[in-house]
Order: sequence, then structure tokens, then C-alpha cells
Amino acid sequence: MTTFLNPTVAKSEVVRPIQRRKIIRDDRVGLWSSPAVIAPNNFVYKSLSNWAFNVAVGCSHACRFCYVPSAATIKQRPKLSEFGVKDPDSEWGEYVLLRPWDEDKFLASLRAAENTLRSLLKPDGNRAVMYCSTTDPYQVIHHPAPERRQILAQHARWLVRRSLELIRDHSTLNVRILTRSPLARSDFDLFKSFGPRLLFGMSLPTLRNDLAKVYEPKAPAPSQRLAALRAAREAGLHVYVAVAPTYPECDEADLRATLRAVAELEPVTVFHEPINIRAENVERIESHARGLGVILKTDVFATRERWQDYAINSLQTVERLAEELGLADRLHLWPDKSLGNAGMTDRQINPKEHIRWLRRWWGRLSEWPV
Ligand code: SF4
Repeated sequence: MTTFLNPTVAKSEVVRPIQRRKIIRDDRVGLWSSPAVIAPNNFVYKSLSNWAFNVAVGCSHACRFCYVPSAATIKQRPKLSEFGVKDPDSEWGEYVLLRPWDEDKFLASLRAAENTLRSLLKPDGNRAVMYCSTTDPYQVIHHPAPERRQILAQHARWLVRRSLELIRDHSTLNVRILTRSPLARSDFDLFKSFGPRLLFGMSLPTLRNDLAKVYEPKAPAPSQRLAALRAAREAGLHVYVAVAPTYPECDEADLRATLRAVAELEPVTVFHEPINIRAENVERIESHARGLGVILKTDVFATRERWQDYAINSLQTVERLAEELGLADRLHLWPDKSLGNAGMTDRQINPKEHIRWLRRWWGRLSEWPV
């Protein structure tokens, strides 16, 4: 295995990564079989990155709306069953399998990304590697055995820091961090060393902690995320915010409060999309909310048409508020592809204008600091 120990890393930060040969398939929180590498990603109309670096299979934040278990992780069902995961979708949030570290394999993936001709890359990816697209890079590792928990947590930290150092020192690629966790604060020094090559962002759909507890039950509270974003700005980092996905309970006053707090951060870009929940998840969310004493507006999920009307209304409200708050030039809406379907277009007063509006957002390239 190649060993690069960057002298700029403080000694206390250098922890031994867990090698593949030491894999212990003890339970649903442990180590996955294949190592962490940079891989092309498949975002459509998001303008987030060309590649992703995913540290784990699974995510302890357990967001109820997360598309990952049904779109990506479900393909790993046979392998996941070896780790005791019977249903990757309904058990989402209960398993986190960190990828092992293999420096040679990581460097090979880094070289492949670095040497990809620009003409072959989607321009909306900004030649960036995203941390992460199917998990959170700064999630808390829960394991019942304290020693094992500590080893896994150190390994997760190694994966992020070591890979970032190698990207910084052995490539010209950009990096986009996206997390819900204030644990990222411990890496602000490393982020800073990238200069404008790194953008730090958090998902902040609302400032209401009670609402986030319903939809993102195990993720850190929005108040902690906002504090981390403010700390990032104070540390001189370039930040962006994903006001996404917002919930049906996020009315105009709630959206205005969130966007006002976001505007103070002087973000490079503000992304927005409304929540899009699969029907089978609605009952689960409702019963969880009842237990917390929160009444939800789940009627917007009753039919596809209801959801589309809700989504358009939410997108246009944010567009108007961004104008009001001086954020219009940095706003990047993410309208779902289905909002351009024939049924939806037919319900518009001016269908041609509706399509033009959608195409403007679908074709938008999010900015990168220079
Ligand atoms: S933090 Fe991201 S990957 Fe993790 S559960 Fe939430 S939406 Fe999914």
C-alpha cells in the first residue's frame, strides 16, 4: 500500500486506517467490502459535481425522505444481507458500513478523474468531487461497543481527511462538501487550505428544530447547522446552502426566516427544492410526527397532481423571497423533471412560459468562487 503522510497534518490527526484484511463483519455498523474511491456521479439538473466520494453504505441520519435507499442502496441488497440488513429501505438509518481505505485504489481513481478531458465532463459539475452523494461525511457512528465505536469513528475521520489531502496535493480538482453535521467544524483548517477550490455547504431546509426532528430524526438540529455555517464564514470559507428539501409545513414566514438567515452568510449559491416523498413513507412519517405532537400537512402527497401544485408553489415562493432578500442572483432552484410533464403543463395558464421557466433552472450552472 502506498503511504503518503502529509507533513501539514498534525500528528494527532493521523490515525491508522482500517485495512481490508481486518474486516470484521460483526453487525450493521462496521466495515463494507469495497474501498472508498472517487466515482462519477449521476446528478441530473443539480449542478453539484462531476464525481462523488462516498465514505459509507448507509447513513445514520435516517432522513425520512432520503432517496438513497430506494435508488442506490437497494441494489446492494444481497451484499447487505451478509451484514444482517434484511430490508435496506425500511432499515435505512440503522446500518452504516464504512468503506475500507486502500490508498493505491484511491490514487488510481483520483488520477482517472484528474485526467478526464474537460470536453467529456458535464459543465454543470464544476470539475468537483462531492463529499458525499449517498451518505453524510460527518455522521456520528453509533456502535454499542465503545472501543469499536472509537475505531470506526477514527476510520471515518481518516477517510475524509486523508482523501482530501490527496486531492489537494495531487490534483487540480475542486471539492464540494455537503453535510448536516457540525462535526465538519473540526476540518475547517483543512478546508481553508484548499482556497477557492473547496465549497462548504449544509442542508438547511428550515430553522425549526421540531420540524426537522420529524423529517430528519437523527440529524443534528438546524440551529446547530446554522451555527456551523456562521463559523465557516468566520473562518473565511466559501459557503453554499441547500435549503432542501423544504417541507409542506414550511410556509412563507418559515421560508423567509430561513432565507434571511442564509442571506447573512453571503453564500456562493442557494439551492432549493421541495420535499418529494414516496407514498409508502407518508404513513411512517405521520405516525412518527404524532408521537412528537407535530401535525403535518401530508395531504400534499395524496396525489401526484397535488404534489406538483405544492412543489410549483413552493419553488415560486422561494424565487420571490430570494428577490426580496437580495439573493436572486445566487438562487438555484431544482424543479423536479416531472413538473414538465404534459399533465402538469396543461394545468398552467401559460404552458410555454412554464416550460421556459423550468428550462432556465434545469440549465443553470451553479457558480464557483475564483
Ligand atoms: S443525510 Fe443525506 S444521505 Fe443521509 S439520510 Fe439524510 S438525505 Fe440521506
